[in-house]
Amino acid sequence: MPIYEYRCESCHTAFEKLRPMREAEQPTDCPRCGNTVAKKELSVCCMSIAGGGGGNSMPAGCGPGGRFT
Ligand SMILES: [Zn+2]
Repeated sequence: MPIYEYRCESCHTAFEKLRPMREAEQPTDCPRCGNTVAKKELSVCCMSIAGGGGGNSMPAGCGPGGRFT
């Protein structure tokens, strides 16, 4: 399952959650306040980073620990 980033609209806590792709767009429950108002944020993972520079490198933002911080 892919990891999606969510942000709670109640307490604005950002967190990551493993979800089935078909449920990714649905609001999920916040681990902090418990409200089911957390919406998915656009993730940089596995999307075109750096706007297509023409390089031949693999996407650096994918995989555990490979995220830009
Ligand atoms: Zn919350």
